[in-house]
Amino acid sequence: MALVTMKEVMADSLRRALDKNIDPKERYAVGAFNFSTIPEMVGIVEGAREKNAPVILMLSLGALKYIGSLELVADAAKGIARQYPEVPMVLHLDHATDLDMIKHAVTVGFTNVMIDASQESFEINIEKSREIAEFAHDQSPRGKFGCSVEAELGMLAGHEDNISVSEEDAGKAYTDPALVPEFVEKTGIDALAVAIGTAHGFYKAAPKIRFDLLEEIRKATDIPLVLHGGTGVPDEDFKKCVAMGMSKINVGTGLKKVYTDAVREAIKVLPETEYDPRKIVGPGRKAIAEEIASKCDLFNATGKAKAVMQELYR
Ligand SMILES: [Zn+2]
Repeated sequence: MALVTMKEVMADSLRRALDKNIDPKERYAVGAFNFSTIPEMVGIVEGAREKNAPVILMLSLGALKYIGSLELVADAAKGIARQYPEVPMVLHLDHATDLDMIKHAVTVGFTNVMIDASQESFEINIEKSREIAEFAHDQSPRGKFGCSVEAELGMLAGHEDNISVSEEDAGKAYTDPALVPEFVEKTGIDALAVAIGTAHGFYKAAPKIRFDLLEEIRKATDIPLVLHGGTGVPDEDFKKCVAMGMSKINVGTGLKKVYTDAVREAIKVLPETEYDPRKIVGPGRKAIAEEIASKCDLFNATGKAKAVMQELYR
């Protein structure tokens, strides 16, 4: 199967999030996972396949710089999608700020892009997010909704590539639920990243998630909500976010550690005469697949590939 848009992959999750009569345990979020190499992309998809779960491959600007080309990533993702037709998957560009670069990503085949103008004024954020939403919905190779768009309101703490916000600043910049309806309506975006107390990177102390805000935001709009800064959030908090209607959860930093720990261990146990990189970094890819599989369980996405597929062909 071809790559699908995030809007399509989250349609089933969103329906459950908005259904007030559903048992909250029936809700789930789709995991979005960072990678820096093509084998890591494969590891992510293998983990999702093992759990029959939908998945989002997430490219950061730092990883893009390392890999070097949007086309290369897009073509690799298209190839992986053909190889694993049973896994509904999205290729997502995360936290991008350069409008021309985002448009380029849309034209080469990314199926979701995030325009992050959250550090700008409310008006500029609306303007930039709307420009990207219009472009993605009209100009993408597969026509309307060939690429969906995520934007952010409020600011997340922590460091992710070229984005840097102190934890104190983030405390002052939670997503304001009162601004959400206007933002969503004027921009035409497909998903909203919210700042409710999580941060990028590792935490010094467990984050305090503002569930009261999440509840208000979920009531304020009917588009999918996205949680960034998923590394180090206690499992119980993840489950609560999902039960309250969060549709996508981003995980980056934690995966890097899982990968690197596995590679370190391989180097430690292998003889010094071993020089085959596949034996050294291969365990990293396997460790990523295992981590993704456990995240699918945690986000309750396990077994949901079928429901997503049915939604695609409704
Ligand atoms: Zn993020």
